Amino acid sequence: MNSASIKKLKEIVGENNVLDNPADLYVYGSDSSVHEARPNVVVRPQNTEQVQAIMRYANSERIPVIPRGSGSGMCGQVVPVRGGIVLDMKAMNRILEINPQDGYCRVEPGVVDDDLNKALKPYGVFYPPTPASSVVATVGGEIANNASGGRSVKYGAARDATLAVKVVLANGELLSFGSTTRVSASGYQLEKLMVGSEGTLAVIVEASLRFVPIPKLRCLGSAKFNKLSEAGDAIADIMGSGCQPSMLELIDKIAIIAVNKANNLGLPEVEAILLYEADGMAKEMIDVEIGKIQDICKKHKGFDLESSYEAKERARIWAGRAKLFPSLSKYDESLASTSLADDMAVPFSKMAECADKIHEIADKYGLVMTAYGHCGAGCMHTKILMDTDKEISWENARSAVSEIYDFVRSVGGTTSAEHGIGMSKAAAFKKEKAASLELMRAIKKAFDPNNILNPGKLMDGPDDWVEETTLRYQSS
Ligand SMILES: Cc1cc2nc3c(=O)[nH]c(=O)nc-3n(C[C@H](O)[C@H](O)[C@H](O)COP(=O)(O)OP(=O)(O)OC[C@H]3O[C@@H](n4cnc5c(N)ncnc54)[C@H](O)[C@@H]3O)c2cc1C
Repeated sequence: MNSASIKKLKEIVGENNVLDNPADLYVYGSDSSVHEARPNVVVRPQNTEQVQAIMRYANSERIPVIPRGSGSGMCGQVVPVRGGIVLDMKAMNRILEINPQDGYCRVEPGVVDDDLNKALKPYGVFYPPTPASSVVATVGGEIANNASGGRSVKYGAARDATLAVKVVLANGELLSFGSTTRVSASGYQLEKLMVGSEGTLAVIVEASLRFVPIPKLRCLGSAKFNKLSEAGDAIADIMGSGCQPSMLELIDKIAIIAVNKANNLGLPEVEAILLYEADGMAKEMIDVEIGKIQDICKKHKGFDLESSYEAKERARIWAGRAKLFPSLSKYDESLASTSLADDMAVPFSKMAECADKIHEIADKYGLVMTAYGHCGAGCMHTKILMDTDKEISWENARSAVSEIYDFVRSVGGTTSAEHGIGMSKAAAFKKEKAASLELMRAIKKAFDPNNILNPGKLMDGPDDWVEETTLRYQSS
């Protein structure tokens, strides 16, 4: 990109909305992953017309464009690996309509999840995906990543909430996909194709999202286990028993130690804790659900079972889980927490095996790895805690990641549950989806013939992320 390009972009969005000083380019070069690269410029569109003009110009000049929300993605989705324009969508953050009768809201993509839920609360409804990053995650990033969260076990992920979108294509054309009606059988559901597209197909400039009633009552409980596999077996049994928890989360010992160290919580440092929640309008029904879940936990040797309807007590129990990811680097301050093989999904019946496998592989390669996640929704998260200064750590991490994904595929699981693919999971994704990659490439070409939208991700991502020049850590 040259100075004429910067001048043109300033004409479109105004001088103040174009950033090209080194400090800004550094900040916009990374997300929550292990990757980084520098964009040529950051552009902050204020409206759809500006997005269209930027895309028309970038397409004519073949300049890469990387749509970006808050940059909280964990796999390098917004890392500008081929330079170009980072399109910061956060200024487009208006809530355009809240329609209680028809059960949807219409928003711009830069609206932050928590802000949307604050605006919806007076209507007695909420937008359910709510990832643990909801304090920063934008609606655009959630749709493009198919984000989910603690309550997705009952209320679904971003995919389920996305009724309709307006998008700007690579050539600047504005299109609407989907409908705000509750059902639709009108041909290809292109709005759903945007879900999980990671900014590679089009820029989302508006979304119509389904919301659901806020339950009157919530009861949160916990159970402790002396074996991780016992907690895993309890998850499978709970999900197979006809129970409908509104949350079911696993935390292993490594994660418990880390949250204790970071937040002084004093949680018992047992092998595993299950957190479960049931919600609804009537206490009698919630008590039955919680009772069933607790019976199953007991059957699998769960102990110290607690439960509470009290908001304060619920907040205490939930605090450990909510602070988990940022706390992991405290487990051992000589080790950094890296988002690698960080969120598989496996069938419920394989949860126990998967959790044990993660620890077995960690031991084999001398790494520290956690097992935790929104397990009721099928997620199994891990993080690799390692000395990132040492080349051997990266070699071991590469082998560990590869073995984890081999295991996940062998049990019918999938590479990502909710954090997406980006760069760090591209190799595993390509193995998992080998038979449909050509079809996906054809879809990409139909939307973006010049490959300007977020190149170098998904099918186009690296086969060996350790060899990648974008690694954020210097090994010696
Ligand atoms: C502490 C922490 C906890 C987390 N917990 C969870 C969790 O519980 N569940 C979960 O699902 N994720 C979680 N994440 C991951 C991440 O927060 C989510 O994936 C979130 O949805 C990303 O939103 P964002 O606005 O930061 O998007 P970004 O990271 O900025 O972007 C994500 C992807 O969306 C694309 N994109 C963004 N805006 C647009 C747009 N307008 N049009 C087209 N494409 C767009 C980008 O190109 C990129 O590919 C967590 C992350 C952190 C740091």
